[in-house]
Amino acid sequence: RQAGYRRLRNKPSVTKDGTAIALHLNAGLLVDMPQLEESGAAGVGLFRTELLFMVAARLPRVSEQEELYRQVLEAVGDRPINFRSLDIGGDKLLPYLRSVEEENPALGWRAIRLGLDRPALLRTQIRALLKAAAGRELRLMFPMVTMVKEYRAARALVDREIRHLRRHGHPIAETLRYGVMIEVPSLLFELDELLEEVDFVSVGSNDLFQFMTATDRGNTRVSSRYDPVSVPFLRALRLIVEKAEALHVPVSLCGEMAGQPLTAMVLIALGFRTISMPPASIGPVKEMVRSLDLGRLRARLLPRLEPGCWSGDLRAFLKAYAEEN
Ligand code: PEP
Ligand code: MG
Repeated sequence: RQAGYRRLRNKPSVTKDGTAIALHLNAGLLVDMPQLEESGAAGVGLFRTELLFMVAARLPRVSEQEELYRQVLEAVGDRPINFRSLDIGGDKLLPYLRSVEEENPALGWRAIRLGLDRPALLRTQIRALLKAAAGRELRLMFPMVTMVKEYRAARALVDREIRHLRRHGHPIAETLRYGVMIEVPSLLFELDELLEEVDFVSVGSNDLFQFMTATDRGNTRVSSRYDPVSVPFLRALRLIVEKAEALHVPVSLCGEMAGQPLTAMVLIALGFRTISMPPASIGPVKEMVRSLDLGRLRARLLPRLEPGCWSGDLRAFLKAYAEEN
């Protein structure tokens, strides 16, 4: 089967009725990068920078970070890559950084919150990224943004680093593209403001689902209780994708849903044209894309999301649909 998928590597990712779907990769270490070539992915939709920090014995210095990011950028070549700023705290702890005991780590002092409160860490990372991307594009996105004002604060921090590096004559990234991960439900109610100010957004469906349903994603007692393939969650995703499209802001999704053919099919039906997933998923998802009659699926699925139209089991409906097509 894997050999079969390899044959798909250079085949276009286009639905039967002609819609192109960009399949990107989730990565986080230099060793992941050869997978780009092997899978035929169009770029790196999510580069989890914290993994580089988690495998290190101590906090990497700015020069060490710069070198790592440079190697990653060399490996992706001309393809786009979205670097996500450090997403630590919560359950992703760094052994060499003092952490605080928290009763609810997922809701705690993590990601951009920690970055804004302890800016030295975030500024070092941004400085390293700006320098590593000298002469090319840097796409930078921020995790766990809860309010647009946090994005603005992070941007101010980047601007400060840019001024600092320029003043000292360092070559830096030629163009900058800023993104925000949509993974905290409050952002759904500040989408207009957000989309006015960012260059792209990426939905972190793992966390968005966790927070929307108030179910710990790592707790098996509750994590399978609710299905992302359900009316409320699909409506939320649809709202995001439609708003982004209306305001011409590129939108992608990089949670686990993108990596399984059935859920990826749903995302495409909702309007996502870029999705990002683990390397092993590219083949199976591309196979699904190439056999998909998107117009037909949309006609069958979207009415079921309208109020009062249907109360059946969406996943069962989609499974049956996938089998008969
Ligand atoms: C997500 O939350 O969906 C996501 C992609 O980020 P992570 O899994 O690293 O939290
Ligand atoms: Mg997340």
